[in-house]
Amino acid sequence: MKKYNSLAEIQSLIGQKKLSLPELLDYYFKQIAGNEHLNAFNEVFFYSAAEQARLVQEKIEKGTAGKLAGMVIGLKDNISYKDHKVSASSRMLEGFVSPYSATVTERLLAEDAVIIGRLNCDEFAMGGSNETSYYGPVKNAADTERVAGGSSGGSAVAVQADLCLSALGTDTGGSVRQPAAFCGNVGFKPTYGRISRYGVIAYASSFDQVGTITSSVSDAALLLEVLAGADDYDSTVSKLPVPSYSDALGHGGKKKIAVLKETLESEALDPDIKTAILKAIDLFRAQGHTVEYVSFDLLDYLVPAYYVLTTAEASSNLSRYDGVHYGHRNLEATSLNELYKRSRAEGFGEEVKKRILLGTFVLSAGYYDAYYQKAQQVRQLIREKMEQMLDSFDVIIAPVTPTPAFKIGENMHDPLVMYMADIFTVLASLTGIPAVALPLGNNAGGLPLSIQLMARHFHEEVLLSLAHEFLNEPVI
Ligand code: GLN
Repeated sequence: MKKYNSLAEIQSLIGQKKLSLPELLDYYFKQIAGNEHLNAFNEVFFYSAAEQARLVQEKIEKGTAGKLAGMVIGLKDNISYKDHKVSASSRMLEGFVSPYSATVTERLLAEDAVIIGRLNCDEFAMGGSNETSYYGPVKNAADTERVAGGSSGGSAVAVQADLCLSALGTDTGGSVRQPAAFCGNVGFKPTYGRISRYGVIAYASSFDQVGTITSSVSDAALLLEVLAGADDYDSTVSKLPVPSYSDALGHGGKKKIAVLKETLESEALDPDIKTAILKAIDLFRAQGHTVEYVSFDLLDYLVPAYYVLTTAEASSNLSRYDGVHYGHRNLEATSLNELYKRSRAEGFGEEVKKRILLGTFVLSAGYYDAYYQKAQQVRQLIREKMEQMLDSFDVIIAPVTPTPAFKIGENMHDPLVMYMADIFTVLASLTGIPAVALPLGNNAGGLPLSIQLMARHFHEEVLLSLAHEFLNEPVI
């Protein structure tokens, strides 16, 4: 059973001296030891986490602690932390130690969070089930024969199984929202450009965003407040001021909500997810919001456009792993070309290789117009359509996933089935809008169900306040 659901709960116990931060950290270390079979962590940072907990506890006692004092958080293993390993769950980066910290890591530490370890994920964040990890799949704590989701599967399971309070993930096409949905958590992907990606291992740079996996919306709001905002090291980050997202909770007002009709009518949608979303719509109406069904006729183009563009960007981003600069190196090669080939052939797994090949193909001279350029045009159409819709509505509802968590191994042989499972999450990624996955209870088999809310660019507080009201969380 989950013990702590929010930082507010922990801070209140620490404030009453019923709990200390080192005790809390010990609790999580024990939870991790008792749940090793879930394979959520690639590494636990025993020493640095214990040292940070001790320092923050001293600050708490002196009254000088930051906003996140008491937050024990895990990092997806594609986010750098100075002097700690970071591998993107790839053999390519096995043993690589990061010489600097990501901006998000620095911001967490500056507000006194404790970073407990690095979490398993799909290799280079390419996947939707955490089965492409060099370190093996993460298991869903609701049913260990099923996937955690991906690519931030370790992040989702760590929060689900109470191995830490919250986790950072990255979301390129759903990698925060989808595993959160499979594990019953709150998975938040902010607007593209809201959070710095400096020090985050790149997959597809016009899509990648850092996101949060938490048990409560209030923790998502607090983390976003700490993480968001301009960064001299990442020129893609917006300079828009960062609102106090926590203060927005409880003050959302009545919203105009659109439901994407075709998503609920989709034959691929699991009937339990559909029923749960219909109930959620009733609840939104009962809470005084208006809900209308709106047609979105570009659904069939989302997955193809997403996979053409992301594989193209990935093929370029991953060219840096050449066995020379850093990463895995083949030691028997006798020429430079052979060194490149053998290092990359050995360092990358099957899925990553497949995507590099596909991306190189769609960018190649003879096919650029037919695939890459066409996909860019489709992306623009999708953006325009969504912008129009968001002129009339505050929030858009869709499912997160077509089905609850599937069995480990079930979809691995069929990339099309696997890629089509991203159909509802890639919309917010192609358009760059913020989106959140919220839990809707479990099906009869105990598997979590979920709903997705999306909003206009930089309207994170609209999503957070609506989600907070919907989940009936206390106003702090
Ligand atoms: N499942 C999607 C993919 O494999 C999303 C991955 C992600 O968001 N990192 O591309």
